[in-house]
Amino acid sequence: MEVDATRMCELLVGLPDVVVLGLDDVADGELLVHVECRRRATFCESCGVEARLKERPVIALVDLPCFGRRTQLLWHKRRFACPDESCSKATWTEEDARIGAPRVAMTARAGRWVTAQVGRSARTVSEVARELGCDWHTVMNTVVAYGTTLVDDPSRYGTVTALGLDEVLFCRLGRYRRQEFSTQFVDVTTGQLLDVVEGRSGKEPKAWLEKKVQAWRDGIAFATLDLSGPYRAVLDEKLPGATQVADPFHVIKLANSKLDECRRRTQNETMGHRGRKADPLYRCRRLLTMADERLEDDGREKLLGLLRAGDPKGEVTTAWHAKEAVRELYTHTDPTLALVFVERLADDMCDPDNPIEVRSLGRTLRRWKHQIAAWHETHVSNGPTEAANNLIKRVKRAAFGFTSFRNYRIRSLLYAGKPNWALLPTITPR
Ligand SMILES: [Zn+2]
Repeated sequence: MEVDATRMCELLVGLPDVVVLGLDDVADGELLVHVECRRRATFCESCGVEARLKERPVIALVDLPCFGRRTQLLWHKRRFACPDESCSKATWTEEDARIGAPRVAMTARAGRWVTAQVGRSARTVSEVARELGCDWHTVMNTVVAYGTTLVDDPSRYGTVTALGLDEVLFCRLGRYRRQEFSTQFVDVTTGQLLDVVEGRSGKEPKAWLEKKVQAWRDGIAFATLDLSGPYRAVLDEKLPGATQVADPFHVIKLANSKLDECRRRTQNETMGHRGRKADPLYRCRRLLTMADERLEDDGREKLLGLLRAGDPKGEVTTAWHAKEAVRELYTHTDPTLALVFVERLADDMCDPDNPIEVRSLGRTLRRWKHQIAAWHETHVSNGPTEAANNLIKRVKRAAFGFTSFRNYRIRSLLYAGKPNWALLPTITPR
């Protein structure tokens, strides 16, 4: 048992080669711990002469709470000067990365802790800041400082055989809440988020793929994408050997949104106004987009009854059948027939008697028939794609409210990019 008062204090503070100068017991419950580095002779790095002590700046670092109290470490640093006036190294300040990294407003141990809290456990920055008694920026800047090394670690991921591209809304900016999009790269086999780049045009994704070595690109056998023309162009150019697979989730989503468009147009044409509570088409809007096998018998009866009442020309009913036919595409198991099925369905939908929304859906299916059919040929199961989609949703939730792309990228990758957290104790931001 340690009984020496000075040593007991040092043990409690728990930093190596540190002298505890004193404590401030602040009235609002905060504890200020004054420390300095253990004194030793310091020499000029440039000319080797013993340095002269010039100033004692005190810097405040947010630390982990001590016995339940918010704590700051007040580091009485030493600022040195070289006594030789002709020396190129005029002045410098002592540093000790074991206490805190330069330009980070937190101690090293607090910095690593907040990085794990925000990055790994997806706690909100404001919640962690409140716990430590500091502001949002102090926490976020620290997470970026420590997290950058973790997400840019070259061994974070290796060979990828199935790459997924997906657009994600990451924030709304300015007065008009302008939507800002990003593009995510996901390993759809493992669900690992590989990276996030700005924008959803082909430009940034193309640049990202260009930076990869040829062998890595050659390893990609499948590339899944939503029905986006720019992404398709990127894959055609940068991954010509990869089989493109249209993500079933997005294909079905498109069929649902065409059905919705058709319902709203029909509503307007028949009633002369947007959907109201009592309108049959408005009442069946959820039943329409629900998967048919999930409708109970009375649900289906109700849906058909509402369609009879609100859809005199049968257009919404046609769009509903079209949506169900698209969903059915994915229940076929014969890969050799998949392309035939897609082509036949697209032709049926393009029939001039069909409502405009169904014909538009048919044209899209036709344009993407190989990518849609490839889902069957490649036997890429729905599981990983769904997992990736769920992950994307989680990341979006975690990043809600972000306006800085840099922060958004670091946070998403810390959370869903599977960084090697064992590296965290060894990281010192520069
Ligand atoms: Zn010198």
